[in-house]
Amino acid sequence: EKTDEAHRPIIFAEESNQSDALWKLSLQGRIDRALDRGEIYLVYQPKVDISTGQMVGVEALVRWNDPARGQISPAFFIQECERAGRMDHLTQFVLDEAVKAAVLLRGHGIDAKMSVNISATLLRDNRVERMVQQTLREHNLPAHLLVLELTETARILDLDHAVTVLERLRLTGCSISIDDFGVGAANLEVIYKLPLDELKIDREFVANVQNPKAAAVIGSMIAFGKAAGIVVIAEGAEDAQTIRNLADLGCNIIQGYGISRPVELADLLQFQWTTTKPTAKNMV
Ligand code: C2E
Ligand code: MG
Ligand code: MG
Ligand code: MG
Repeated sequence: EKTDEAHRPIIFAEESNQSDALWKLSLQGRIDRALDRGEIYLVYQPKVDISTGQMVGVEALVRWNDPARGQISPAFFIQECERAGRMDHLTQFVLDEAVKAAVLLRGHGIDAKMSVNISATLLRDNRVERMVQQTLREHNLPAHLLVLELTETARILDLDHAVTVLERLRLTGCSISIDDFGVGAANLEVIYKLPLDELKIDREFVANVQNPKAAAVIGSMIAFGKAAGIVVIAEGAEDAQTIRNLADLGCNIIQGYGISRPVELADLLQFQWTTTKPTAKNMV
């Protein structure tokens, strides 16, 4: 057991002089060790219905606090995880923690849905379905309290196959959400063909809601959601004015720093959102 190994920074592909196979092995080892040592953990960001003030959902977001390098951005290490063939392992960990957290929230009388990010690249086979079923059963969480947020839908190669996998997943009772909608190549065919319950408007549009074109796009997503019976959520709303503009467009379910930053589970239990009408002072 080379204990000093674990504290050395991860060797990334571009700076590695090892063979690809060796590099993959060492990264796998580091990810597994980080999981074992509790360096990887979850934080939770509320989704609030601003028309009622109720926290209707919570998104689980993974964090890696490496003792040598500090916080490593998930956008970065998830990509590394994927390249090391460890996404199913990480996803199982996240599902497990998130489902346990949802059970704990329920125990405190909070019936918020728990969202877990799932890389669409995992839809190639039935592993996610098995993981979801086993995890819900193990912790005894009703399936309707679990939402799977599909990220990287642009990388779905076989849309028809993804439809089949998602239909089976939905039969287990959980909901399917499309993340970051509108950017990348998460295109109209995806929302047209995939069985969906929720659509998350990417923060690129949300941040620019004061722009008439962005507002028109958001408005049409809301209209689409209404017509198709799909819940539309705005992500990345950073301030009171943005939240008010979203509400004016009919978008009431909102997530973002303007509501709450991602927080630890204990803080989530204390979370309460109080409607504060923007005053002249905090209006932008
Ligand atoms: P995402 O799923 O779209 O999550 C939203 C990201 O935006 C999160 O970043 C969140 O902290 C950040 N955010 C929330 N509100 C605001 C806001 O008002 N302003 C700004 N500027 N940012 C805001 P984070 O946690 O760094 O995650 C980045 C991405 O990494 C996620 O984007 C998701 O695609 C991926 N990710 C995170 N956790 C997991 C996971 O457990 N599994 C998988 N497959 N992907 C994950
Ligand atoms: Mg997400
Ligand atoms: Mg998102
Ligand atoms: Mg995003």
